[in-house]
Amino acid sequence: MIEISNRSVKKLRPEKELVDPNRPYLWLNEEEIQADGVLRSVNTIFLTNRECPFKCTMCDLWRHTLDEPTPDGAIPEQICFALDRLPDADVIKLYNSGNFFDGKAIPRKDYQAIADLLSGYEHVIVENHPKLIGDFIPQFRDLLNGTFEIAMGLESIHPVVMPKLNKQITRESYCKASEFLVSNGIDLRAFILLNPPFLTDPEENIEWCLKTVEFAFDCGASACSVIPTRDGNGIMEKLREDGAYVPPTLSAFEEVLDRAIGLGRGRVFADLWDLEKFSDCSSCFETRKTRMHQMNLNQIIQKPIECSCRG
Ligand code: SF4
Ligand SMILES: [Zn+2]
Repeated sequence: MIEISNRSVKKLRPEKELVDPNRPYLWLNEEEIQADGVLRSVNTIFLTNRECPFKCTMCDLWRHTLDEPTPDGAIPEQICFALDRLPDADVIKLYNSGNFFDGKAIPRKDYQAIADLLSGYEHVIVENHPKLIGDFIPQFRDLLNGTFEIAMGLESIHPVVMPKLNKQITRESYCKASEFLVSNGIDLRAFILLNPPFLTDPEENIEWCLKTVEFAFDCGASACSVIPTRDGNGIMEKLREDGAYVPPTLSAFEEVLDRAIGLGRGRVFADLWDLEKFSDCSSCFETRKTRMHQMNLNQIIQKPIECSCRG
């Protein structure tokens, strides 16, 4: 079995995409239910910046990143470029394939310019690693007109899996970082994996995903986003070959979404990107995807979709 280290995770990677430091690599508008239960328009900008210094086993976000520190001024320019092409919205997410508070990814000198560009938004969401916590967070929050939310990957609290994800976090460090955010009036969102590597039993995967959702809510999260673990970064394919990673089924993902929303602890979103990867029936796939999308939007558990593939 392959040993997990920064080196082994990097060694099996395919090539990065070519990216331009002055352009975001993607931007989109969608609707999302907010903490107050109201559906609001959300713009998401996927920024191009220096690669995240962590090397998590399952991560493929490095694909659209730079090897060098992001030049000063590039992030405000990217935001301007995307905003010119996006509709007006209430909420904005700045996702940067890493950590917003990594000064080499998002230069601190640019915070004021970034906050000025976001001044029309009532809520701002960024992503960050639990280790990158400090006074710079409330300082940035104070520059914003709207409320602030930070999404942090919790991934899995399974005691064997958590260290092997190479994320360099523990339950305790996640909790501590969450307390810091919550005590500073910042909302917390957790990213959680379904079927992380090193956990292959289908039932255990469902149960540990739900335990991780509950843990995130215990830490004060107002939303959890469940991500079905995908391969595609090199090492995940190797782990799959070795039997250490099994992709989740669509049924397992549906069960997790139903039960996690059913907890009634906060909003739970299913990450539906590339969902067809997890489906083995073309007859029911689109209706099942629509059902999950509806549940993301209204947080109400819908009737299951019937199909001959489900017996
Ligand atoms: S911290 Fe996030 S962006 Fe960085 S390697 Fe881990 S999953 Fe990827
Ligand atoms: Zn079917």
